[in-house]
Amino acid sequence: MEIVPAEATLEEQCVARNMRMTEQRRVIARVLEAASDHPDVEELYRRASAVDPRISLSTVYRTVNLFEEAGLVTKHDFKDGRARFEQIPDEHHDHLIDIRSGKVIEFRNEEIEAIQEVIAKKLGYKLVDHRLELYAIPLEKDS
Ligand SMILES: [Zn+2]
Repeated sequence: MEIVPAEATLEEQCVARNMRMTEQRRVIARVLEAASDHPDVEELYRRASAVDPRISLSTVYRTVNLFEEAGLVTKHDFKDGRARFEQIPDEHHDHLIDIRSGKVIEFRNEEIEAIQEVIAKKLGYKLVDHRLELYAIPLEKDS
């Protein structure tokens, strides 16, 4: 039987990239990995400092930027003036942002994925990456 290796955690991926992992960086990595809501630095700081009160806001800043430079974390700008962070997902997804509540919903649509490749090709390119953000308000329930 084939043995499938377990998904490496963000912490393990950092170690694999020879990143020096202090206890504080490990806490921040775990907090980021546990988040599914695209938190900003302030929110990450709130969560990380709840685990280890010695963690400072500037440490969180430096650490997420380090993770981003290493290609482990991606930064989003959802137009609310806050940079949001997310661990690079195993499978690509796009985002819908509820501009009233700030809620971020992840989705993936194969038709959209395909049409973007078609558009790039028509323009003479091979698509290698894309970002798609939908800004929306909830539909009225009574219509
Ligand atoms: Zn996402």
